[in-house]
Amino acid sequence: MLDVTTTVNGTVWPGIPGPFASQLLAMQCQFEAIQWLSPEELLARQTRQLGRLLAHAYDTSPFYRRRLDAVGLPAERVHGPAEWLRIPLLTRSDLQTQHAEILSRSVPEAHGPQSQLFTSGSTGRPVMVVGTGLTQLFWNCCTLRDHLWHRRAPGATLAAIRSLAGEIGRAPEGLTGEDWGPATRGIVNTGPSYTLSVHSTIEEQADWLQRRDPDYLLTYPSNLLALVQHSQAHGWRLPRLRQARTFGELLEPHVRRACRARWGVGIVDMYSSQEVGYIALQCPAQEQYHVQAENVLVEVIDEEGRLCSPGQIGRVVVTALHNFALPLLRYEIGDYAEVGEACPCGRGLPVLRRIMGRQRNMAILPDGRRRWPAIELAETDELADFPPIHQFQLVQRSTTAMEMLLVVHRPLSAADEDRLRAWIVSAVGYPFEVAFRYVDSIPRSPLGKFEDFRCEIPDARDQERGDG
Ligand SMILES: [Zn+2]
Repeated sequence: MLDVTTTVNGTVWPGIPGPFASQLLAMQCQFEAIQWLSPEELLARQTRQLGRLLAHAYDTSPFYRRRLDAVGLPAERVHGPAEWLRIPLLTRSDLQTQHAEILSRSVPEAHGPQSQLFTSGSTGRPVMVVGTGLTQLFWNCCTLRDHLWHRRAPGATLAAIRSLAGEIGRAPEGLTGEDWGPATRGIVNTGPSYTLSVHSTIEEQADWLQRRDPDYLLTYPSNLLALVQHSQAHGWRLPRLRQARTFGELLEPHVRRACRARWGVGIVDMYSSQEVGYIALQCPAQEQYHVQAENVLVEVIDEEGRLCSPGQIGRVVVTALHNFALPLLRYEIGDYAEVGEACPCGRGLPVLRRIMGRQRNMAILPDGRRRWPAIELAETDELADFPPIHQFQLVQRSTTAMEMLLVVHRPLSAADEDRLRAWIVSAVGYPFEVAFRYVDSIPRSPLGKFEDFRCEIPDARDQERGDG
């Protein structure tokens, strides 16, 4: 039960929220009920919203008008999955090459201000995505739901170690916020939040974490594992820590085990993307994920394009239900997932048992220190001037040399390569020698994992895999 912050002088209880918080709470009130609907009831409601989205895309996006005409599918005729599955998948390649055609020519004013960001997602394929005030509202709603599901104590402190643009949030101090951010602001009085750039070395992060001594820690799985291992090797702990939270990469079971063994706390993972926001959150009662059906339609499809059954692994295809600026209809996001059975918790929100997305390990500096390479490009535009890059993968070949594999639409000039080299050195945080190799494609592992950064120094891989 939330102890809502009041905004009216002379009142303390019950809390009377302001306009922004009221909207979030009204959404949360619906979210509370929606999660218990049956899968059929959920799909029926999603289909109503899909109809609106499809009509908007057809009316205002030249790309979708052509695409939907080609399959003879005017918006009003979609009544469910049978028609919906006829819409061709939207690929990252489409987004890279036809971005301007996909953008809506007329976004309703009520959807709020638009924002752009550049991301390579979990596939090493950079795209520009556009969000609105409305998509931000859904982001905040899902963040609040995650806090509620996992019963976080509002007065506690929250630390995050994540990718930040440029010099923002560097060690030793990082950033300090007076609260947890917009998802809880004006609703409850939270403790402070601390944020450190993941550009910092593991040693710098360990030092910062011990000084901040947070209740909750949010970071990438590979970075969390490196911290746990450093804590083990150097004998430090986080005495207040109640829960670790992860995002942005494949979370493997051995990372959960290592975290529990060393720090005595579990991990709550989340599945989100820059393109569509939250896709799935970890169930409050199980180590599997519930699709955030209010925000996104998720289809997991096999090689023939059919919907997978529980136990099957397939490609993740998402439709953002409320993005009317850059409509993403049946967007193949580049991850794989295993469909789960109905969840014992009783929630009707669809279940993903496992998610197989980006996989990474740490970069190793010549002096042996380790650092998480911040090369996913999120919230930065350093590579926005490099449209010829179709896909990339950075590989550490030795303690002094990196190689970037590139799939390009056209060759980079020497000047382009110099700029890219400077960007890589900054993103990895050390002046490595950087070579480029042009290739036709960059393969995934058999289970569909994509490594946008790989370290080929043998010790590093042993260290990360071998903790059991
Ligand atoms: Zn559940």
